[in-house]
Amino acid sequence: MPVFEYRCKKCEEEFEQLVFSAKETVECPKCGNVDNEKLISAFASTHSHGAAASPTSCSSSGGFT
Ligand SMILES: [Zn+2]
Repeated sequence: MPVFEYRCKKCEEEFEQLVFSAKETVECPKCGNVDNEKLISAFASTHSHGAAASPTSCSSSGGFT
């Protein structure tokens, strides 16, 4: 599933949002603001993902550039 992380530009709340369309508007669950910054990676995730598999969690030395 396409789950992306966002950070609210207004209250800086970080949250995950299921996005089915690139044009879909995401809304901050805390303040309702729709002007959010999309976080590309989850390297600095501050919340645990439980038992969810994360195959790219240790790819800090990958050749992305
Ligand atoms: Zn907010």
